Amino acid sequence: MHIFEFTRPANPAAAINAAAQSRTAQQGADVRFLGGGTTLIDLMKLNVETPTRLLDINRLPFDKIEDTPDGGLKIGATVRNSDLANHTRVQRDYSVLSQAILSGASGQIRNMATTAGNLLQRTRCVYFRDTAMPCNKREPGAGCSAITGSNRTMAILGTSDHCIATNPSDMCVAMAALEAVIHVQGAKGTRAISIGDFHLLPGDTPDRETVLEPGDLITQVTLPPPRSGSKQVYLKLRDRASYEFALASAAVVMNLDGGNISYVRIALGGVGTKPWRSPEAEAVLSGKPANSANFRLAAEAALRDAKPQSENKFKIELAKRCLVQTLQLATNG
Ligand SMILES: Cc1cc2nc3c(=O)[nH]c(=O)nc-3n(C[C@H](O)[C@H](O)[C@H](O)COP(=O)(O)OP(=O)(O)OC[C@H]3O[C@@H](n4cnc5c(N)ncnc54)[C@H](O)[C@@H]3O)c2cc1C
Ligand code: SF4
Repeated sequence: MHIFEFTRPANPAAAINAAAQSRTAQQGADVRFLGGGTTLIDLMKLNVETPTRLLDINRLPFDKIEDTPDGGLKIGATVRNSDLANHTRVQRDYSVLSQAILSGASGQIRNMATTAGNLLQRTRCVYFRDTAMPCNKREPGAGCSAITGSNRTMAILGTSDHCIATNPSDMCVAMAALEAVIHVQGAKGTRAISIGDFHLLPGDTPDRETVLEPGDLITQVTLPPPRSGSKQVYLKLRDRASYEFALASAAVVMNLDGGNISYVRIALGGVGTKPWRSPEAEAVLSGKPANSANFRLAAEAALRDAKPQSENKFKIELAKRCLVQTLQLATNG
């Protein structure tokens, strides 16, 4: 049985000082923060994660959702996914975020899961979760079982020869389209990281999933002021209607001026090794009429660099249709 120490630090500084003793960054570190535990405890039961010390951060003062002076929103790191999805301002001004969160997991899991924990949830690749199988993400240099094995649910964008694991988060896809900023307090001070820069592509170091350093504590996420009059849609396609991860998903935030698209942000889920913002699709649509032909051109652009594996070529067309349909819903909504 894996033995670990469990503590409740009294303040953020104490938590950071303790976590900074780790040799590595958050994923795989020997001292870990505990949010809702719905990722970390699961992986500890499987012996995939084996921290020596857990720091329960649930008593730290990060459980509030507040307006920012510029009209945006500040979301504390330990705000539960349920509370975020059902918050009045989120439903009114950032509805794509509410839709994305409510499409994920189950009511019980969303009641436990935290904002920071969701940002750092780990891949559902079955080989990553099975210590009997080689996995570069779990054990650098061991090899990737998915590339030659079962890879139907794996990524088609941002993959490398070392890892093709999909980022499973729905929340992060909406946050990518909303251009969220993640605020971190660490041993060297505080910093703000745009969500596009937060997750890393696997490259030849798939064990390193984010830019976090040892001791870094996510304190909050901020959203910029909402786009007045914007249409926001999150669409998730999956093998069953609930309690299932995305095969493909799309988040769209869009403003129309007459029949033309005056502003658009697009992110895809279920297909990328990180939450996948698509500047290529946005460029195709910007200033153009909102019609099916342009939506299809945008989808082609978004998936142009897709690299399928033996079992997941279907995801290319699925993701294209998902994006076209999401844009259609945003236009008609
Ligand atoms: C059965 C099941 C189905 C699911 N389905 C979906 C789904 O459809 N869509 C979806 O998006 N998700 C899904 N999830 C994943 C779920 O959303 C995540 O497990 C959850 O968001 C993680 O949040 P948590 O607070 O429980 O994280 P934890 O398990 O507490 O932590 C996760 C990681 O974050 C670190 N961490 C936590 N807080 C901080 C902080 N403040 N600063 C730095 N590091 C921190 C931890 O050390 C750990 O590494 C599912 C999960 C399960 C178990
Ligand atoms: S895809 Fe990534 S997580 Fe899955 S087995 Fe390969 S290296 Fe491991």
